[in-house]
Amino acid sequence: MRKIGIFYAYWTEEWDVDFLPFVDRVKRLGFDQLEINAGPMVDMTTEEKTRLCGEADRLGIALSYGIGLTPEHDVSSLDETVRQRGLIYMRKMIEAVGTMGGGMIGGTIHSYWPAVLPQGLTDKGPILEQSLKSMKELVKIAEDNQVILNVEVINRFEQFLLNTCEEAVRYVDEVGSPNCAILLDTFHMNIEEDSFRDAILLAGKRLSAFHLGETNRKPPGLGRMPWAEIKEALDDIGFDGPLVMEPFVRPGGTIGRNISVWRDLMPGADLDALAARAVEFTRKTLC
Ligand code: MN
Repeated sequence: MRKIGIFYAYWTEEWDVDFLPFVDRVKRLGFDQLEINAGPMVDMTTEEKTRLCGEADRLGIALSYGIGLTPEHDVSSLDETVRQRGLIYMRKMIEAVGTMGGGMIGGTIHSYWPAVLPQGLTDKGPILEQSLKSMKELVKIAEDNQVILNVEVINRFEQFLLNTCEEAVRYVDEVGSPNCAILLDTFHMNIEEDSFRDAILLAGKRLSAFHLGETNRKPPGLGRMPWAEIKEALDDIGFDGPLVMEPFVRPGGTIGRNISVWRDLMPGADLDALAARAVEFTRKTLC
């Protein structure tokens, strides 16, 4: 049975919040997993981390971690000072997650976000090289900390380095460690991939986690995503990773701005009730 999770930012306007109350909340709504922001792990005290882990263990909720690195921590930067700062930050993050018992860190951990190719450049090759150099270093720390680094394939409007599953496959094969794997997201795939099925089959065993959302980032079950095709492909590769929904429906705050939510997609909706229905749908349709 695949675990079903949700990204906490569905409920918040800011990235840095207290994650503790969300553990109980997602448990009550029927989830198995909570994805939280990996960034704050770096500065969390041991006591705070122990409390969060304890609550997750007590309720049987798995934790996973997501982040889009900021330009200050860009591990693909051509500026060596910035790249080194990014490496130090990622090292601290991986070690922090290691002290939480390990797990998955996914997102734009190979570059920064949101991002377009820097002005004046036409070739992303040198940036990709920097990213690979960084990842080959980081993956060793991940191996020592029982952490899997999942590079997320993101659409062209939000990032430029890995827009398709094919690019991500080349990337993780070059890194060459089971601790560097792929995170696909239906919202991004809908924009970039010729075929959901072919992309999932191409990822194969490299696919370690999967983000769910409709084409407009509503919770699964409320749109036109080809869920039956997706389920069949996940079954064909024997996918046993988590299915983490990542809905964004409300404008406001840094998150609304970063995600480009400029309207209330579901006026008057009860977010908890919507999430509970989406779990039910996902369990029936994708597990
Ligand atoms: Mn995602």
